[in-house]
Amino acid sequence: MKRLGVAALVLLVLGGIAYTQRAALSMALMGRVAARVMAQDPLAELADGIHVVLCGAGSPLPDPNRSGPCLALVAGGRLFLVDAGSSAARNLQAVGLPVADVSGVFLTHFHSDHIDGLGELGVLRWAGGGHTTPLPTFGPPGVDEVVGGFNAAYRLDSTYRVAHHGEETVPPSGRGLEARPFANPQPGRALTVYDEGGLKVHVFAVGHSPVEPAVGYRFDYAGRSVVVSGDTIRSAEIERMAEGADLLVHEALAPHLVGLMTEAAEANGMTGRAKITRDILDYHATPVDAAQTAQAAGARHLLFYHIVPPLLVPGLEAAFLQGVSEAYSGGVTLGRDGTRVSMPAGSQAIDVSGG
Ligand SMILES: [Zn+2]
Ligand SMILES: [Zn+2]
Repeated sequence: MKRLGVAALVLLVLGGIAYTQRAALSMALMGRVAARVMAQDPLAELADGIHVVLCGAGSPLPDPNRSGPCLALVAGGRLFLVDAGSSAARNLQAVGLPVADVSGVFLTHFHSDHIDGLGELGVLRWAGGGHTTPLPTFGPPGVDEVVGGFNAAYRLDSTYRVAHHGEETVPPSGRGLEARPFANPQPGRALTVYDEGGLKVHVFAVGHSPVEPAVGYRFDYAGRSVVVSGDTIRSAEIERMAEGADLLVHEALAPHLVGLMTEAAEANGMTGRAKITRDILDYHATPVDAAQTAQAAGARHLLFYHIVPPLLVPGLEAAFLQGVSEAYSGGVTLGRDGTRVSMPAGSQAIDVSGG
């Protein structure tokens, strides 16, 4: 008993010292973290193959675990994004992927939730990397308008930064985004939009009417493959493009959960919100739709992203996934910000972690 009392006293004294020294201790820690962030080259440290990290697993509706849609893909030491929703750049930093190293962004369509983070991404990538050319931003027709708008909105900011840090540190030629438009792919006809360093990217049409164009992407590298749905209803195109893919990253909206929001909106006389929650049912896939697509395609793992509605109550994940295991026999992951799937070259492994 006496011993315990002494131990408690020692702990209390040590705790007291740590508390009074907390500023010095935290600064020492901060210095070490900063040294690691500035020195590391996380892309070079990753095993060869494809690595997918969700830098946004959500939708336009706020969810503390799921920011606006954003998928990071590392292949052959290069980092690409599919879409850049709100917090895209911040989430990259949080999962240890350097914003300054983003080589390009592939946009699926121009709904706000998929482009909200482009401005911040453009600034941080430019200022952090001292780039001399803007960030390549691939997209179907309309990408010029979106990119032009962001560049105009951030032009004044860039003049302040050049004036403050100098042209050598932040070369004016590298600021912002550069549109890389491609033709709108027709159903049944995928187009190659990128083919470099062993990474091949195909784009294909999906169904998100009245949003036109709307596309998905297939990435192939070192014998591994990833298909990203973008926003879509159940799609025969995805089924075809995801044939035998290692990973299908598919959006999903659970109508039975969104229905609860509609009921709540109606009960409170919010007719506008009730209408929107009913309208969105017709241009997204259900979790079971996505599972059936994955099953028909023979995709090996299904990762859900663009989760609608926000899953704010414990246990809702299970409700969201109702019926999925009956429809699909492969591995299933319900994505959160930070979910990571690694597919090493020369192997069949699909390693899921984080999130
Ligand atoms: Zn969306
Ligand atoms: Zn959309």
